[in-house]
This record gives sequence, C-alpha cells and structure tokens, in this order.
Amino acid sequence: MVAELLSVGTELLLGNIVNTNANYLAKECASLGLSCYHQVVVGDNPERLKETLITALERSDVVIMTGGLGPTDDDLSKETAAGVCGLPLILDEHSKEMIADYFERVHAGSITNNNWKQAMIPEGAIVLDNHNGTAPGVIIETDNKAIILLPGPPGELKPMFAEHVAPYLAAKQPEQFYSKMVKLCGIGESSAETKVKDLIDEQTNPTLAPYAKIGEVHFRVTAKAKDAAQADALMEPLIKELYHRFGKLIFTTDPDETLEEVVVKLLKAKGYTLATAESCTGGLLSGRLINVAGISEVFKEGFVTYANEAKMRSLGVKEETLAQYGAVSKETAREMSEGVCQVTGADVGISVTGIAGPDGGTKEKPVGLVYIGCTVKGKTRVEEFFFTGNRKKNRDYAVVRALTLLRE
Ligand code: ATP
Ligand code: MG
Repeated sequence: MVAELLSVGTELLLGNIVNTNANYLAKECASLGLSCYHQVVVGDNPERLKETLITALERSDVVIMTGGLGPTDDDLSKETAAGVCGLPLILDEHSKEMIADYFERVHAGSITNNNWKQAMIPEGAIVLDNHNGTAPGVIIETDNKAIILLPGPPGELKPMFAEHVAPYLAAKQPEQFYSKMVKLCGIGESSAETKVKDLIDEQTNPTLAPYAKIGEVHFRVTAKAKDAAQADALMEPLIKELYHRFGKLIFTTDPDETLEEVVVKLLKAKGYTLATAESCTGGLLSGRLINVAGISEVFKEGFVTYANEAKMRSLGVKEETLAQYGAVSKETAREMSEGVCQVTGADVGISVTGIAGPDGGTKEKPVGLVYIGCTVKGKTRVEEFFFTGNRKKNRDYAVVRALTLLRE
C-alpha cells in the first residue's frame, strides 16, 4: 500500500516552521509497512491544494493531509477534500458535542460560529475524535482509496494518529516492518561494507543497510512480516551470517544500546573498576562513560593531564620518558595508563595522548596521531592510531577507539 504525505500550510513553504509532522508521519508509515514515494507541501491556496490532492490520489492509495482544519477562513483542507470527492459537508452532532466539551474542559473562552465549521464533516466520512483540540480528524474513503485529514498542531496530530490512524492503516496493511540494528566498532565503513556487499546485493526480505557513525558502523536489518515472531525468524539467518563475518567486532544488536553501555556492562560483569587518564580528549572519554546510568559501581576517577608537568605530578609519568619520547608516544601512553591504576587503585586504566590538530603536527608525529594505553590488572597494551579528521573528529575518534579497546 502506498501512502503520500500532503502537508498544508503557507508557513511551511516560507520556512517559518519546520515540517516535523511529515518527519513523524513518514517514520510511522514506514514502521507500519507502507511505502511512501512522495511528500508534498502546499500553501493555504484552494486551487493548488485541489490540484495537488488529485495528483496524490492518482498515484497513492492513502493520502495523509495535515493542517488546515482550523476554524478560520484560510483553513480549507476539509472543504477541498470533500469537493474533490464530490461530497457535501454535513453538521456532525457528535463532533459538535466534542467541541463544546473541549471548550468547557480547557476554559478556552467562548465558542464562536467559526468553531462549528470544524464540526462539518464530509458525508459518510469517519470522524476521528480530537482530545487535545477542537478540530476532529476525518477519513474519507473513496474508490478504494483514503484521504486522511489530521490537524496541524503536532500535539493534536500525534495522539490522533496513534489512537485512530495507526490501527486503521495496520488493518489495511497485513505486513509491517521490523528492524534490528547490528552495531560494530573497530572496523571502517568501507571495509565493513565490502564484506557484506553480496548480502546487500542479494537482499529482498530482510534488507540490510549500512550506516557510518564516528568510529562505528551500524547495519540495519529490516524484515517485512505479519508479526514480531515472523520478523525474528526472517532476520535470524542474516544476523547469524553477520556474526559469522564480523564476530567480536559486533558489540550489540540492541538499537538503543551504546558502546559505552556495553563497556560498562562488561566491566561490571568482571567486577573491575576503571580510571581514565586523558590528554587530547580532555575529559570526553570520561564524559561518555559517565553518561551511563549506574557507572558509579565501575568508575573511580578521571584525570585530564594536558601539560607534561600534570602527567608527571598526577600520574607519575617519568620526566626522562617525556624528554626522550615526547608526550605523544607509546611510552607515555603506557606510563599514563599504568600510573592511573597505581594512583587510584583501579583494576583497569585507560589513557589517551595524541595530536588533535590543527597545529602541533610534525613529519614524524602528524596531526591525528594518537596513542591509547589500556592496563588491565597490571598488563598493558598500547595502540597507535592515525586519524584524518579535524580537531573535533580526531578527539571523537580517539574516544571511540578507547572504548573499543576497553571492550576487548
Ligand atoms: P489550527 O486549528 O491551529 O488552525 P490547523 O489544523 O488549521 O490548526 P494549521 O493552521 O495548518 O493547522 O497549523 C497550526 C499550527 O500547527 C502551525 O502554526 C504550526 O505550529 C503547527 N503545524 C502545522 N503544520 C505543521 C507541520 N507540518 N509540522 C509541524 N507543525 C505544524
Ligand atoms: Mg489553521
């Protein structure tokens, strides 16, 4: 079934408001399994609205119109839709009562004659009660097609959609979309995509789509199915295949779970405590970790040791190490992560030292060079990275790489 979104309002055309209704409805339609090939915005002009609605009805099964259901003269959506379908507008007693009731409930002043215009419904149409405003929604069924009219204010549209329209569409649409997110870290987007090119090319149901995030690659697996159980069964072989190809690089299949949450869960399961020693990331790493609820069981202390003097005083990095190898070096990263474990008594220490840019790079140590040290129960591993972004990106990449190391 093909749905089309028709947003009505001159304010939208002028850029005075953002079309968040279309954004919401597009997502809802997709999850209901409807295909959506067109979204149109048209101003409060009856001629252009009529023309647009006729075109939409020719190419789509369901047209969802938003806005223009208000009491004023420029609100013409219902009148235009009724006209296109050749239906008269008839006073609906139930809607009239609902409007009177709404006015009484919210003390919205006195009812004007204009308001009764909102109780005028195209003959034979389905009325959708509005508990958050005065304009009822309307579904006009015509020639095996449907026009669904919803009020413009999002606070009225969303509950009305959820209560009335979603069940109406779901009943017409026996299959819906279900998705899972397979999230990877420690692999670049292009190599991840290359590894699954055949799966993307062969896809029908379920489908596979990659999304690149900083330091992470997400694969969305989407199945069209009658219910969640059938969707799971359809998705299972593909998800298994992804595990087969990427193994430990996959850190979760829960769409809402973040890398830092996985790290914290892992540390909790092992009963380990954690401390951070950051230079170029300046607290970003500890910030992301502390975003996780329940981190207090795990996180002991974090240092931002930017100057050499701070690395020596707070973490016990040796003056000779800094003089011989420099602050951005394997050796310094090692002494930082080992030092932070010693100073705090944490089981796990993680350190980041690097050149975020744009200045400070040399031929031997270019901008983007980052060393990350990870000490677990006295055993240290240091990794070297060359990031190629700007200052912000290099720091963000370093944080994700540090989290990736903690997960291993
Ligand atoms: P009203 O009874 O308030 O006149 P209406 O159904 O006639 O409602 P509009 O007049 O088109 O709707 O819009 C009313 C308000 O709803 C707008 O000022 C805007 O704040 C919001 N709105 C309308 N359309 C959209 C949209 N597509 N996306 C987000 N907000 C919208
Ligand atoms: Mg209006």
